[in-house]
Amino acid sequence: MAKPYPYFVSLDEAKEICHNNKISLSTEEISIDDSLNRIIASNVVAKVNDPPFDNSAMDGFAVIFSETKSVPVELSIIGVSNAGSNNLAKLSSGQAMKIMTGGPIPEGADSIIPIEKCVINGEKVTLNEQSKPHFIRKQGENFTKDSVLFEPGDILTPEKISLCAAAGVNKLTVYQKLKVAIIPTGDELKSLNEELNYGEIYESNSYGLSALITSLGHEATRFPTVVDNLETLRETLEIAALDHDLIITSGGVSMGDRDFVRMIMQSEGEINFWRVKMRPGSPPIFGRWGNTPMFGLPGNPVSSHVVFRVIVMDWLMSLTNSKNPRNQIIQATLGDDIKVVEGFTTFRRVELFHNQGKTIVRLKGHQGSGNITGIAMSDGLTILGPKANGKQGDSCQIMLL
Ligand code: AMP
Ligand code: MG
Repeated sequence: MAKPYPYFVSLDEAKEICHNNKISLSTEEISIDDSLNRIIASNVVAKVNDPPFDNSAMDGFAVIFSETKSVPVELSIIGVSNAGSNNLAKLSSGQAMKIMTGGPIPEGADSIIPIEKCVINGEKVTLNEQSKPHFIRKQGENFTKDSVLFEPGDILTPEKISLCAAAGVNKLTVYQKLKVAIIPTGDELKSLNEELNYGEIYESNSYGLSALITSLGHEATRFPTVVDNLETLRETLEIAALDHDLIITSGGVSMGDRDFVRMIMQSEGEINFWRVKMRPGSPPIFGRWGNTPMFGLPGNPVSSHVVFRVIVMDWLMSLTNSKNPRNQIIQATLGDDIKVVEGFTTFRRVELFHNQGKTIVRLKGHQGSGNITGIAMSDGLTILGPKANGKQGDSCQIMLL
């Protein structure tokens, strides 16, 4: 009997279904101090020119270029321009002004000679080299007042935050953080402050998933592990849906008898797709619990990370029209044969090497989907599409971790 929802879809189909089921985010104004990883929701406009005035890129002397064309030349020192100086004297013919990096260029000067190219003798300085006009940092050369520095969707990295500050911007309009519930499921899972009995393992997925959510500028709540039981799972999903914008579960979405997340979604939730042709990570579910979107990620630790990076991240980024600085893709050459399955997209854990101008990738660590060591130690994931052969020497896209 045909499933009442798309079943075992390609990765592209899965992403498309996600894109057709977006939610909208509110916006808020925040202080620049709280802006790391936040997603810009309205244009960031420079309040000043950068630099605001012509200044020196070097410690040295501000001089008149035409007077330094033949060296050595001796000039009279008429004062100093420190960073922060103002009311400077005007430079006339035969004169030089000592200047520090960031010091304003005095009127009349048009070039800088670095201090190490000069010999100072009391009130005089002898230049042994021509001065350099390009050692002047020109007003507005980095950006000009009222120019748009960032647009909606840009994600605030440390460098972008410094740029906002240089532009005099201390308040930013960003998208509100999505509140994301992360719900691990499984009878065998114990929390980190418990002793393990035979058959038990530490619950680890929720920690990595929560770190991924935080790094994308959203807010994760890690729920305690839900045992494999329909009633408890239902209660937890109900509670999570009350005050979260997104639910992410881990475990219990495969074909087994105790895969309760899948069962409850089939009987009581709404499924937009179940199972994706990808390795690792083929069992995920995407749907809604009531009105709350939910991703049911596989329990295997590598699978949960890979599905998050490939499907959930893609969906989250699409909500704010963002390019993810964390999901960089590069082109590399396969240094090993890599096992692929026709029709599937294959994400193997690899290490990068550079050899004679080429980037080569080799398999790194155990490739089992239950082995978190491999992904934790590797540099990236292969993106070997449904038709790839995975042969040594083939070119391949790599998603950097
Ligand atoms: P499941 O998807 O529930 O069938 O789980 C598949 C495998 O992943 C099993 O070996 C589980 O013990 C393991 N697993 C499930 N959830 C977690 C978790 N939150 N942390 C670590 N391992 C998990
Ligand atoms: Mg399980």
